[in-house]
Amino acid sequence: MKLTFLGTGTSQGVPMVACPCEVCRSTDVRDRRLRSAALIEADGLVVAIDAGPDFRAQMLAARVTHLDAILLTHEHRDHTGGLDDVRAFNYFGQSAIDVWATAQVARAVRHDYAYAFEEHPYPGAPQIALRLIGNDVFRVEPHPDEPVPESMPVELRPRNAERRAVGMDVLPIFGQHSSRLPVTGFRMDRLAYLTDFNYISDRELEKLGGLEVLVINALGHRPHPSHFNLEQAVEISQRVGAVRTYLTHVSHRMGFYAVEQPKLPAGVWFAYDGLSIEI
Ligand SMILES: [Zn+2]
Ligand SMILES: [Zn+2]
Ligand SMILES: [Zn+2]
Repeated sequence: MKLTFLGTGTSQGVPMVACPCEVCRSTDVRDRRLRSAALIEADGLVVAIDAGPDFRAQMLAARVTHLDAILLTHEHRDHTGGLDDVRAFNYFGQSAIDVWATAQVARAVRHDYAYAFEEHPYPGAPQIALRLIGNDVFRVEPHPDEPVPESMPVELRPRNAERRAVGMDVLPIFGQHSSRLPVTGFRMDRLAYLTDFNYISDRELEKLGGLEVLVINALGHRPHPSHFNLEQAVEISQRVGAVRTYLTHVSHRMGFYAVEQPKLPAGVWFAYDGLSIEI
């Protein structure tokens, strides 16, 4: 299984518009962070976690030509604002893309993208198939590829049109983003991805035993009402005992990657955009 960090920044991204701080002016590519999202590739299956406002740029950067599903962590725009761009996959022959979400998040998607859920959407509207996340493991299935039209030029055909993907089991991990807003993380085999968490119960933590890789959000150094800060993220990482931990959803206030990375405990790294890891 391969995980690629498509974006590792907080809701405003880094650099943040109009910010004069030195981190936002850094020339180190590891300090440039699109909105948080990840791509999971396993046995031919290609799954995105979240589709924020940078989704288009992220699909281009990772050269994604086929997408089986999107898993949504919660309804904030920095995680859902790019869903309209599934149109590109629809255009190249993929019918509605499975978008997995809890009932609350699915309601928000229907509201925000009402034009995609009308009885007769306009031609070219994004085709989104909402799939509900319940309390238990769910199985992400390979997208049933439409036959590629004979008229489609070879160079435009989906790169993995002839692949033989199998499904992937995903265990939802539930937490709180704030006292009022729940958030969902995902465990796939020995990888878990948690973003925008500010609280996780001991019971949910028990689902994270035996991890090889934990991805967890760390906003900055100071405590924050809706995100783990660095200290909390590291503490959870140590409680979980994952072999490797990567920090994401990082704000400009965390400081320079090159300055902050050496201060982290062994086995903990700041993720950065474009980083790919094998699990
Ligand atoms: Zn966020
Ligand atoms: Zn800044
Ligand atoms: Zn959020």
